[in-house]
Amino acid sequence: MTKKNTRMTKQKRIILQILKNTDSHPTADYIYQEARKVLPDISLGTVYRNLRVLREQGEILELSYGSTFSRYDGNPSNHYHFVCTKCGKVQDVDIVLKTKLEEEVREKMGVDVEGHRLEFYGVCNDCKVKN
Ligand code: ZN
Ligand code: MN
Repeated sequence: MTKKNTRMTKQKRIILQILKNTDSHPTADYIYQEARKVLPDISLGTVYRNLRVLREQGEILELSYGSTFSRYDGNPSNHYHFVCTKCGKVQDVDIVLKTKLEEEVREKMGVDVEGHRLEFYGVCNDCKVKN
C-alpha cells in the first residue's frame, strides 16, 4: 500500500491514536465516542472519512465481517484474528504467518499472490466460562 498523502490533520491524528491505544478492534461508533472526549465538535461522518483515508494510506486495517459493521485495527501489518460467534469480540491471533499457503496457491493456479487473509471463528474463553 502506498502512502501518497502523509498530511496529518488533528482529527486524523487523534483517530489513529485511539486505534493504536486499543487492541479491541473497535467499531466506528466506539471511535466516535472516544474522539468526542477530545474533540467535542467532531461528527460521525468525519470519523468515517478519516478512517477511510487512514485505510487508504495503509495506516490501519478495516475488518469487515459480512453484513455487520466494520471494525478497525491500528496494526496495519498482516496478522490473524479470532472472532467469537457468541459475543462478537475480535482478538489478535499471535501465530506466525502461513506464507506457505501463498506458495501453494501460486503453484496450484499459476497466479501472482500478493497476500492472504485468515480469520478464525468460535467461542472465546470468556463465553466458554459463562456456559
Ligand atoms: Zn465471546
Ligand atoms: Mn488485530
